Amino acid sequence: MAKFIFVTGGVTSSLGKGIIAASLAKLLQARGLRVTIQKFDPYINVDPGTLNPYEHGECYVTEDGAETDLDLGHYERFLNIYTSQANNVTTGRIYQTVINKERAGDFLGKTVQVVPHITDEIKRRMLLLGQDDKYDIVLTEIGGTVGDIESLPFIEAVRQLQWELPEEDLMVIHLTLIPYLKAAKELKTKPTQHSVKMLSETGVHPDILVCRTEEPLSNEIKRKIALFCNVKQEAVIEAMDASTIYEVPLEMLREKLDLICLKKMNITNYGEPNLDKWKGFLDKLKYPRSKVTIGLIGKYIELQDAYKSILESFVHAGAMNEVKVQVVNVHSEFITNENVAEKLQGFDGLLVAPGFGHRGIEGKIIAVKYARERGLPFFGICLGMQMAVIEYGRDILGLKEAHSVEMDPNTIHPVINMMEEQKKIKMMGGTMRLGAYPCEITPGTLAHRIYGETHISERHRHRYEFNNDYLDQYLAAGMVASGKNPETGLVEIIELPNHPFFIGVQYHPELKSTVERPAPLFVGFIDAAKKYNDQKSSLKATAPKDAVI
Ligand code: GLN
Repeated sequence: MAKFIFVTGGVTSSLGKGIIAASLAKLLQARGLRVTIQKFDPYINVDPGTLNPYEHGECYVTEDGAETDLDLGHYERFLNIYTSQANNVTTGRIYQTVINKERAGDFLGKTVQVVPHITDEIKRRMLLLGQDDKYDIVLTEIGGTVGDIESLPFIEAVRQLQWELPEEDLMVIHLTLIPYLKAAKELKTKPTQHSVKMLSETGVHPDILVCRTEEPLSNEIKRKIALFCNVKQEAVIEAMDASTIYEVPLEMLREKLDLICLKKMNITNYGEPNLDKWKGFLDKLKYPRSKVTIGLIGKYIELQDAYKSILESFVHAGAMNEVKVQVVNVHSEFITNENVAEKLQGFDGLLVAPGFGHRGIEGKIIAVKYARERGLPFFGICLGMQMAVIEYGRDILGLKEAHSVEMDPNTIHPVINMMEEQKKIKMMGGTMRLGAYPCEITPGTLAHRIYGETHISERHRHRYEFNNDYLDQYLAAGMVASGKNPETGLVEIIELPNHPFFIGVQYHPELKSTVERPAPLFVGFIDAAKKYNDQKSSLKATAPKDAVI
């Protein structure tokens, strides 16, 4: 069986437990060990699929169609592995399983209780991925902050496992904050002391403290933390704010986080960490040759996490192209025909984001038109692709009422229609078209040039689709359906050949972009934005001084 590392968090939320866990996993993987990560979330939703992005950020979809926490995106991007439904468990899912068992009579008349029934189910899930000799180490990130009522059963399960597993098969890392008080010019250890005390009161004692801090931790501070929190001084790890999340594995390597874990778990069959590709990526990221500015047209832009995978895909694609990608959020709700030129000026490309519901739709359509008419690189994802279809229908096909039935159920031109299999679905959770589906690309198209192959697989999350009743009209008017699902004929990619870069995809390419394998569409889009920017600069250089460009 595998060994288990649990990562808990204290003092405050948003300390970056997911990044620390992913960084440690990266280092262990780079040393040749087989590693996976899972996340346990304390909320009662069965999965985050029904949550508004404002609640916990984007919903990350895995190959097998699970709607999961965005931290799984970090795990995949860092480790270059696929995760699955088994890698994300919520309190809701635990209770659902236990209650279903109770209804089936499986508890034989017993009173069903948090301890042992809920904690038994938590433990079963915690150990599940480690059972069939696929992994040497399973890292488990426990969502929430120690002291929350909701996460108590998870912590209790870890406590029980501490006794049930051999000592070297389980360890606990506690992530905490050492705040710097400007007025006192001092780092303060008290919140950490309290947080460790609270964790210890539940019977779980951390082996390692990873301390988020804005200032370096002196030996004296480390000694103090070690003394008061009852851990070895070498196990007090400094985690300074990094310029990019991709720097964190190297920072943890310097702090020897991986070695301390390996020692505690008595693992000896590891090598020197092979991080060549990672470092190559970081070099390109840190020393770009030029810069492009991309307008991200969305409606959840107040919250960075709502478009996490898209933003990270830009980082990967930027490094690949050796350009810095500056992403500027534009709220689609406030784009009008009158202000569009002013709002979108200066961009080298537009990405129209995925989304649901009516709000901000017309602004997205106006943005698509702007990009189409000006030869500005355009990339539409899911809802963004659907908006491109509507815009083309209205403006080029003359179907003034063209719409999606999601926004206008009675439209006389439903160019985006509900998928047939979705029509009978009444329950909202986990019922969209989800996960990986194959797509066949037409040779000679932009999509083909970008992917370099004709058979691809990408992940989906939608209920609506291009209405094939209108396909002939669109094709006759110059749009190309360059990617289709081979079984259903569902249009997955649209493009405009008379435009430098205009592409819309029904799927979510951002979900498969990793540091080592950037999503081809993002790489192609940034390349097009770079060319657009170069052209702009050369126009400026050769234009007479008073020309308006
Ligand atoms: N709301 C659209 C649909 O369900 C698009 C979904 C998305 O952008 N993920 O088809």
